[in-house]
Amino acid sequence: MAKATAVQGPASFGERPPAPPAGANHSARRRPFCPLCGCEQADKLVSDVRSPEGALCDDRCAVAWRVLVALRASESTSERIAVRRRSEYETAQPHTSTLSELLLGRWRAGDWAVAPEDLLKQL
Ligand SMILES: [Zn+2]
Repeated sequence: MAKATAVQGPASFGERPPAPPAGANHSARRRPFCPLCGCEQADKLVSDVRSPEGALCDDRCAVAWRVLVALRASESTSERIAVRRRSEYETAQPHTSTLSELLLGRWRAGDWAVAPEDLLKQL
């Protein structure tokens, strides 16, 4: 855009910007991506997805998400994690990953050796 105005002379001033392409509505037809594995959801539309959960793959990722939500809830109230965080902060140590962070990293990378279905039963 900027380069077009730089090349064109003053005659182009006052012209209306080009009409948006026919697919102006393109963004509404975009496909969402699963927040867990990153796969494009070919059967859903961005405009239909109201929350990150709505863009999850139907099977495994939806189960994995539930596991992560439950783990995060327990991590957020865990006294042991709070103590560890404080000590990491005070001694300037790097932040160690929580179980939910480790699992999310593994699952995102496509490593399903720890199956979310199995974990869900234990939560
Ligand atoms: Zn997914």
